[in-house]
Amino acid sequence: MKERLGSDFPAFLASYEVPPQRGLRVNTLKISAEEFCRRAPFPLGGRVPWAEDGFYPEEEKPGADPYHFAGLYYLQEPSAMAVGELSADCSKMRVLDLCAAPGGKTTQLASRMKGEGVLIANEVNYARAKILSQNVERMGIANCAVISAAPDSLAALFPFYFDLVLVDAPCSGEGMFKKEPNAIPEWSEENVLMCAARQREILDCAAEMVSAGGHIVYSTCTFAEEEDEWQVEDFLKRHREFALVKEEKLYPHLVRGEGHFCAVLKKKEGETRRTRPFPIVRNAQAERAFHAFGEDFFLEPLKGTLHTLADGRMYLVPAGMPNLAGVSILRLGVELGEWDGKIFKPAHALAMAFGTGAKRKLSLTRAESERYLRGETLQAELAEGWCVVCVEEFPLGLGKCVGGTVKNHLPKGLRKVK
Ligand code: SAM
Repeated sequence: MKERLGSDFPAFLASYEVPPQRGLRVNTLKISAEEFCRRAPFPLGGRVPWAEDGFYPEEEKPGADPYHFAGLYYLQEPSAMAVGELSADCSKMRVLDLCAAPGGKTTQLASRMKGEGVLIANEVNYARAKILSQNVERMGIANCAVISAAPDSLAALFPFYFDLVLVDAPCSGEGMFKKEPNAIPEWSEENVLMCAARQREILDCAAEMVSAGGHIVYSTCTFAEEEDEWQVEDFLKRHREFALVKEEKLYPHLVRGEGHFCAVLKKKEGETRRTRPFPIVRNAQAERAFHAFGEDFFLEPLKGTLHTLADGRMYLVPAGMPNLAGVSILRLGVELGEWDGKIFKPAHALAMAFGTGAKRKLSLTRAESERYLRGETLQAELAEGWCVVCVEEFPLGLGKCVGGTVKNHLPKGLRKVK
């Protein structure tokens, strides 16, 4: 770094004396940034200059707040927000986030897509894909499938298909040494080269999946040129059909954020191919049960295509979902609930994505909502049946009201432990 940065090096070194910057990005699928500023439960500490909806929260535990449980924001390192901002206007597009867990950039892309188009969030590591799936659910994203597959197997399924492929690659993490000190002992020159070789393979897979006129957004959180500028140069030599649109490197002594690198690459020429649509499975009895539930539960009927699995789980699949046969699917649009052959039982995801449209809502204050989040039963004078429990008007999950008592249906794994 001393060689690379020259006279800037002392300032770079000094930046390591300052604690890492926290970042918060408002989920504009649920609330505007302006409205969130008005209601912010802790000081927001100013806007991230390069991210429209990003802030520097002045709070030790912003993840423990009821608004976080309601998916009003995502905690994302400020520099990482630059990547989503550099992605072109992606609403109505077919978008693939190839290395997506835990979901910072997926949820940022989803906000920008405003529910239009289709977002495929992929994470090769299944355990991490589950966390990604939970974050997609909490943010109430309806136009996303979460899958777990290796990049080469996806490339075989989706040649020339996507308008935008985001490769937020696994890297040597030099830019995160302050935030994640565990990455320091793992660093070695060999590891940098190993990461670069892996990124090269992932980028080649991404190149195959981009349609003519489409883009790859490539990013890392490292300073190593082998993984950043040289990686991009090398890619452009192998792929003459691509051109560099933009490249940006964020250094912690120059911005209020950690280290990050991002490049936007455009595919100038090639093919555009469509794939078969997702093979919807319909089940008339299950759909009748869902419609009966919906009439009682929603103010307006939901629009979209219902898909019912053999075990009775039912999904609302967004328009334009491609066939995902052959990959492991963790989430397909919004899980609506489960039909057991007799009755329909709604799922938590339904409340998070469509809960604001429910007839019966129990609006709790921020203080009261702590009890719901801890799994407690509540008392309320509501009509009998399923209801959506909210912090103010923002859904937190489901409850079932019987005789003035609201039974808590927040999934156990999502409850607050203390
Ligand atoms: N985009 C994510 C976000 O904003 O929250 C962070 C992604 S992280 C930098 C890189 C991800 O790539 C990790 O989740 C890791 O499991 C995954 N990964 C590791 N090896 C991979 C490979 N060979 N192909 C694709 N992804 C891989």
